[in-house]
Formats: sequence, C-alpha cells, structure tokens
Amino acid sequence: MKENKLEKIINLAERRGFVFKSYEVYGGLRGFYDFGHLGVILKNNIKNLWLKDILSMQNIYLIETPIIGPRILYEASGHIENFYDRLVECKSCHNRFREDHLLKGEYGEIKIKDNKALCPLCGGELTEARNFNLMFKTFVGPVEELSTESYLRPETAQGIFINFKNILNSMRAKLPFGIAQIGKSFRNEITPKNFIFRIREFEQMEIEFFVRPEEADKYFEFWVEKRFNWYINFLGIKKENLIKHIQTEEELAHYAKAAVDVYYKFPFGEDEIEGIANRTDYDLKRHMEYSKEDLTYFDEKTKNKIIPYVIEPSAGVERIFFAILCDSYDEDEMPNEKGKLEKRIVLRFKPWLAPIQVAIFPLLSNRENLVKKAKEVYELLKNDFRVYYDESGSIGRRYRRQDEIGTPYCITIDFQTLEDNTVTVRDRDTGNQERINLEEINDYLKDKFKL
Ligand SMILES: [Zn+2]
Repeated sequence: MKENKLEKIINLAERRGFVFKSYEVYGGLRGFYDFGHLGVILKNNIKNLWLKDILSMQNIYLIETPIIGPRILYEASGHIENFYDRLVECKSCHNRFREDHLLKGEYGEIKIKDNKALCPLCGGELTEARNFNLMFKTFVGPVEELSTESYLRPETAQGIFINFKNILNSMRAKLPFGIAQIGKSFRNEITPKNFIFRIREFEQMEIEFFVRPEEADKYFEFWVEKRFNWYINFLGIKKENLIKHIQTEEELAHYAKAAVDVYYKFPFGEDEIEGIANRTDYDLKRHMEYSKEDLTYFDEKTKNKIIPYVIEPSAGVERIFFAILCDSYDEDEMPNEKGKLEKRIVLRFKPWLAPIQVAIFPLLSNRENLVKKAKEVYELLKNDFRVYYDESGSIGRRYRRQDEIGTPYCITIDFQTLEDNTVTVRDRDTGNQERINLEEINDYLKDKFKL
C-alpha cells in the first residue's frame, strides 16, 4: 500500500470532492487547487479547532488585514531584500531550477561537467545562480510606478506587526499577549509539488505572541509544546507520525533567532506543517525605523519603554489538511450485507473533525413510512450535528460511500423503528451496530462527538 498511498489519497480527494485542480478546464495552473464541499468543511473544522484552542487562553486577539500590501511594508519586513530562491537557468532549453533543489537531486540525477551541474532536462550548461523573489507583484491604482508597487503577502504576519499598537490600546492588552490571523498568503514557488503541500496560494494560521525579551526563550518552549500537542489532542494525528525538527543555522529565516518545525511523515517524506520561531524584536524595530511610528511598549513594572520579542507559531492550513488525509486513510475488509468480506477504503477522521458526522438512511427508499420517519430523524439532528440524508442504493453501498468520506456514524431507520422508536447506529471503524431509542439519540451522539 505504501508506494502508491499518495496516489490513492489524491484520487480519493478528487473523486469525493475534497480537492480539485484549479482551472482544469483550461489545462490547469500549477500550484493552485480548489476545495470542494467536503474539503471546505474539513478546512473550516481545522481552523475552528485552532481558534478554539487559542481563544481559550484569553490573551490572544484576532485581526484580519488586507492581502495586498505596499512595497514599503515589504522593504521594512526584509522580504524585498531577503525573500528569494537561488535560481539557475539552462542556456539551451531556458528552463529554470532552484539551485538547492537541483543539488539535492529533486529534479532527478544530475550530471556534472568541469565541477558544474548540468541541466537535468537536456544536459545543457547552466547559468550562475541568480536571486528570484518569491513575492507576487502588482500595482494599486491605474499608474504602474514604484510608488504604487504592491505585493500579495507572503505571510499574514506583517499585517499583525503594524497593528501592534491598535490591539495594545483597543484591547488594553498587557504582555505577554498575542495577535492571531487566519488568511491567504502567496508565494511564487519555482517548483510547486506534492499535491497541496507546496502551492502558490495557501492559507495560514499565524500568531505573533509578544513577550518581554527576557521571557522569550521560556515562551518559545511553551509554544513548541502547545502547538505540537494540538495536533495530537485536537486533530487526533498519531504521535508517531509527528516530528519536532530543530532548524539549523542555515535553515533559519532572515528574522529568526531560533525555530522548531512540526514535521509530518507524509508518504513522500517528512516535511513541515508548522514552524514556531523566535522572531526577536526584528519586525517591530524594522517597522519603527521605516514608519517612524513608536511601536514600543510601556512596561508598568519597570517604568521602561521596551520593544517586545515575538514568538510566532505559523501553520499551513492545506498542509495540515493533507496530513489529516494521510493520517486517516486506511484500507481494510468489512463483511457486506451477505456476510462476505469486501475490501473498503475508510477515512478514520476523529468524530468531531469529520465533514459529515451522521448519515441518515431509510432502509428502503420505496416505503413511504420509512422515508417519512428518516426525514423526521434528519430534522431532529440537523441543528446539533453535520448530517446527511441518503436513500439511494443498498444500505451496504451507502455505508461504503460514507466510510470513504470518513462519516463516523450511520443511522438506519427500519421496520422496527416504526414499532418501538429505535434506530440502528453503525460505527464506521468497527462496523458494529447498536439499537438506540430516538429519545436518547441526541445525548448518545453528543457524547461521541466530544473533543
Ligand atoms: Zn536544458
């Protein structure tokens, strides 16, 4: 199963409406993906669980800032100067490659001539490496000149830093406190790859947590632990599939003093789904310098003005989404209606995370009294759970369809229901069925969906 697990997951995600390739009718656009009905619900569930966790801390405040930002913002942040990949170009076929990926063999085996790597596609000579900035550039208004030059944000963080004073004052915040944002970011990746892992438009969940400089190390440790545990406790990702990766000096971004990444063991290899960085006072200092605004904090304890340090947990929604799909994907065998073992595909989402939580079936679609009762059950549950009504095909086929999209419980309304008001509740993972009275069904399910 391992070698083509990736393909199976991508296939399932497309077939069942989690993820589609963007602009496919026009031949597609590399590095962009659409999310279908179930995908959008799953994405929202991830974001809500993130919000649930951080908002319970009481000292994290939300913000939403524009995607487009002026050039000066990214001069201040250092992105204009530092946010690039080193690219080489083939002198014959003119394809461009990331130098670091080329040397790591990501484009396949490379041939060397006179100590220099050759084009992995045509064997031609390569140019010296040049910097290629990863930000998408645009212009605000009708005039295209330096003063209107703007960028799609490469991270949501900068909108947070420049709102430090607004939040501080309006929320009467005291250190330590955080500002959090969920939103789209854009990077003009040279080689988008691995499905939705490395894409050009993606969603981030970022917190900038402001602390006294002397407490930065302590809160760095705090956030590494807190965020690592979130994957296990809130998303149900298996601990053995997660790794804490301590970034080396070479890996550190231009603003960071220390960083630990949360890695997930994807079928294509282990890679980052979140980074926790100590950004020091780099960003606030730079924005003070470029904007001439005072972004200091008056510390009532010491009566001093200080520039706080920042601990940044920054997570990628699509990467987490992908990790959940990989972690939940399973194949096993289940007896069909005739008791014969059949292969099945199942997504073992945690019950609270599943896009659809309860599927409701009348045993037969041509019996009016069963259909009517099933629709009553749907009405009974629709406000408390994400429910789905389905009457087409055999019960066995309906079960399989729900297994594939990770629905944890299926309720069937049969002839006994009409006599004693009980229904069968079938468990996705075990296939076991229980008869539950409809008077108790709400509490029974609520208990199952508790985080
Ligand atoms: Zn070439």
